[in-house]
Amino acid sequence: MTAESPKNVVVLGATGSIGTSTLDIIARHPDKFKVLAISGHRNVEKLAEIADKFKPRFVVVSDENQYKQLTHLINDDCTILAGATELNTICQLVSADLIVAGIVGSAGMQPVLASVEAGKTLLLANKEALVLAGELVMKAAKDKGATIIPLDSEHNAIYQCLPDSYQCGNTPKNLDKIILTASGGPFWKKAVSTFSQITPEQACAHPNWDMGRKISVDSATLMNKGLEIIEAHWLFNLNEKDIDVHVHPQSIVHSMVCYQDGSVLAQLGEPDMRIPIANGLGMPERITSGANMLDLLQSQDLQFFPPDYQKFPCLALAKEAIKAGGTSMAVLNAANEISVDAFLNNLIPFTSIAKINAEIMTNATVSQVENVTQLLQLDEEVRAHAREMVKKHV
Ligand code: NAD
Ligand code: MG
Repeated sequence: MTAESPKNVVVLGATGSIGTSTLDIIARHPDKFKVLAISGHRNVEKLAEIADKFKPRFVVVSDENQYKQLTHLINDDCTILAGATELNTICQLVSADLIVAGIVGSAGMQPVLASVEAGKTLLLANKEALVLAGELVMKAAKDKGATIIPLDSEHNAIYQCLPDSYQCGNTPKNLDKIILTASGGPFWKKAVSTFSQITPEQACAHPNWDMGRKISVDSATLMNKGLEIIEAHWLFNLNEKDIDVHVHPQSIVHSMVCYQDGSVLAQLGEPDMRIPIANGLGMPERITSGANMLDLLQSQDLQFFPPDYQKFPCLALAKEAIKAGGTSMAVLNAANEISVDAFLNNLIPFTSIAKINAEIMTNATVSQVENVTQLLQLDEEVRAHAREMVKKHV
């Protein structure tokens, strides 16, 4: 018997939270994985540090202005590329076996599309790519025989509760519904009258998960759960009425699948992103992730509550966007990226995130999704509109 050669992994967003967790698992399994390429946007010191440790063949810095600085920091014999289009290049390398999509926001859409168009196995954390271009991504994946494995903890939990033969893009058989769990974020119990005083630091201090700043704010507004409903709609080919949300403050049950016979399957574990990432990397094997083993004897009660759509209007906006269909999900995503960024930069209060998103959704005209160029143009237009609204909400 010959030992299998290591899988070549491309880590998009290697400098971020998902990237760091991915590299942590890879470092535990040098016999199973080799880092073929990495990307980062601006943090060239961290990118160089990762290059030094993992010796990838390709390093992409997506912000071209950082190219020179990066070349000074990297001594190894690797190819350094700069600019957003080079992200697509590393996703389509013939020798790439697994692509980990860990970029935040719509900047990750084109590399995600490039990966599925090349028929690759895509380990997807970058939910905004699906919210913006789910229709195109899922169609290209089907046409080119690409495999998508969700890394977002809820979607990975659902994936683990579906049969082994299940492929994303198909509606699961004999299903009643799926239930996405939500921690409720840091403000679940906070009086809504105090929401306008919330600071970026408070919003980024998530009770259970340690994540990047954008997703932390999305978790605080519950927009994250809204984006995840849209993500589930595309990944599992379900209507919004087949996707429920339960607030589960302990973040131990990561999501559930309810079958027609009354069986409910759930995936449980410590809130550690290395668990779903290791599931995706190791598939079809189970590999060690470095996460602590869940001890239910030590856990507090597992509680579940209905979400409060009035207190967290972003959640309702996502459901409306699925119902409206077409370009409305792309509009919501672009509005939200700008409003969250403005909040993180102290330009608007926390409460204006939902207000700006809602106003933009109300005024948007919905069209059919046709192609990437159309989506990129729409994304730019909505961003420009949202920036104008930010000025009014200061
Ligand atoms: P992060 O902010 O920690 O990292 C983002 C990465 O994207 C960095 O490597 C950064 O350099 C890169 N990046 C930023 N802007 C870019 C641009 N314009 N072009 C190219 N690259 C760019 O974010 P994160 O928390 O790791 O989240 C990454 C994605 O995974 C998000 O879509 C998030 O919703 C999703 N996700 C994250 C977690 C988590 O626990 N962190 C859990 C589930 C899903
Ligand atoms: Mg999630």
